[in-house]
Amino acid sequence: MANPSNNDAGDEREPFPWHLGVFDAHCHPTDTMDSIASISEMQAKVLTVMTTRAEDQELVARTAKDLGVKVEDAELPPEQWKDRPPRIVPCFGWHPWFSHQMFDGDEYNGAEKLDDNQKVEHYRSVLIPPSEDHGFLTSLPDPRLFGDFLAQTRRFLEQHSLALVGEVGLDKSFRIPQAWLPESKESRDASLTPGGREGRRLSPYRVHMDHQRKVLKAQLRLAGELKRAVSVHSVQTPGIVYEVLQELWKGHEKQVLSKRERKRLQQDKARNAEEPDSAFQSGSQDAEPKPYPPRICLHSYSGPVEALQQFLAPSVPAEIYFSFSTAINFSSGPASKAEDTIRAVPDEFILVESDLHIAGHRMDQHLEDIVRLICRLKNWSLEDGVKTLGRNWKRFVFGRS
Ligand SMILES: [Zn+2]
Repeated sequence: MANPSNNDAGDEREPFPWHLGVFDAHCHPTDTMDSIASISEMQAKVLTVMTTRAEDQELVARTAKDLGVKVEDAELPPEQWKDRPPRIVPCFGWHPWFSHQMFDGDEYNGAEKLDDNQKVEHYRSVLIPPSEDHGFLTSLPDPRLFGDFLAQTRRFLEQHSLALVGEVGLDKSFRIPQAWLPESKESRDASLTPGGREGRRLSPYRVHMDHQRKVLKAQLRLAGELKRAVSVHSVQTPGIVYEVLQELWKGHEKQVLSKRERKRLQQDKARNAEEPDSAFQSGSQDAEPKPYPPRICLHSYSGPVEALQQFLAPSVPAEIYFSFSTAINFSSGPASKAEDTIRAVPDEFILVESDLHIAGHRMDQHLEDIVRLICRLKNWSLEDGVKTLGRNWKRFVFGRS
């Protein structure tokens, strides 16, 4: 049983039904490799573990070798995970915060590596405002061939048949960090996986949206080809994420039926109860590969409630999920905004996540807090809520409940 959290001091809370299976839809435990051993002592049943940059791809692949979910696990209903040790689902992708570190070989006559001048030219073209700070530009990592990264991602996805694509996305507000100063580099926390910000000051530079879009789009296409779900980061960009998806699924939109046609379809369905629900057909494992992912989770969704509607339109051919965390959704901005959004997400498309960089008790506690909060907002009992969220997670990850 988890300890009652501090903000509920003195208040006897209803015991939390961990035994029904709690699933974290988005987290980063490989940012703190020492914490990986504690996954086996966690209450949560499965962690959906993201990669973001050069430094964590191999770490997640290695963690999945020991702790990855098995194909037979996918067949279990979530409540039957009770006696199984906690596991992870590995996810492979490149986060928008690191998108500037990728270059498109086609723009450099098929080059696989950039020389010093080309490196500066690359960073000058993808950062805004364009930087004339030569020292800063050369301090950035040597850019990596994007095609090479995609080939690596494809390999990882093929090796891990249940792996997803993530974390990918768009971010309008982030700025890239300044280079490490020699003295602070020496005193950095060695238990953290390198490559993250780690409290470094931010530069004035953002990554051009066209470049972010290109990096996102290619990864979404790969997910579609390999029929994998995707975890998407979007900050101040719900409209552009939607646009990118729309470009990919153009021509595949679902036909929107009239009221009369729907009624007839329902009658036909009632006659033949065997027929699968068309709403979930895009998740079918047998479906042909498509140029867009079958299932997409907008993680720590912080867009406006109105923006939900376009993702939920009946013509959208993919299943769109929304996951929420106390770390992001309730740490900044008014809680009422996140609460309205949670109420507006259909019950079958809501997920929970910790988005935490460290596994263990704290991660469990974050999950418990967000589950309790969602159950309160949705007027669900804890038992019903945990069961619904478990089914949703399973459908999102495996494509079937
Ligand atoms: Zn994340």
